[in-house]
Amino acid sequence: MQYPANHNSSKADSSKADSSKALGLPAEPTLLSHQETYICPICRHGQIAELILMDAFACNFCRHIFTANFPTQSIQVVDSSQPMSWRWNGRKWQSVYHHTSSLTLVVWLISAILVMLPASIVWLSSVLFPPLPGSTWSWFPQLWVACTFGSHLVMVSWLLIEHYQWPLYIATRVRILQWLGRR
Ligand SMILES: [Zn+2]
Repeated sequence: MQYPANHNSSKADSSKADSSKALGLPAEPTLLSHQETYICPICRHGQIAELILMDAFACNFCRHIFTANFPTQSIQVVDSSQPMSWRWNGRKWQSVYHHTSSLTLVVWLISAILVMLPASIVWLSSVLFPPLPGSTWSWFPQLWVACTFGSHLVMVSWLLIEHYQWPLYIATRVRILQWLGRR
């Protein structure tokens, strides 16, 4: 189907530019430079802007500090336990993983063991030593297995979210800290 000639295309373009601005994406590809502000790659909520007289950027929301490498169009966070860096592709940040692949494997391995092992031990003991049939607490072993699995799953989820620095989690953590600070 052919669309009729759009006589208000400039209006459509400007609203498109507005919506992409609202999403934190510039309408045209831009270079990483001192003068511009960019969306924060960690919390995906605040804006990072250059610190005066320093080759560094800081976020106005999560307060993380980044060093900039303009020739490679990349930034690296300096106040985090993990060496995370991102490359600016003209529109958004792309994370650069160099050193963390072995750590990621270890994190996932530990996560799987932490979730499965304690629950398996509890389940195995309930199978080896089953409660007397018809006794009042015969339902308890199943509940205990479910609680063990659930609590370890929550713990491991937190570990993985911390490892991957999930933006929504970071932003929520900052909001909670700000809320606690205001009280
Ligand atoms: Zn931030």
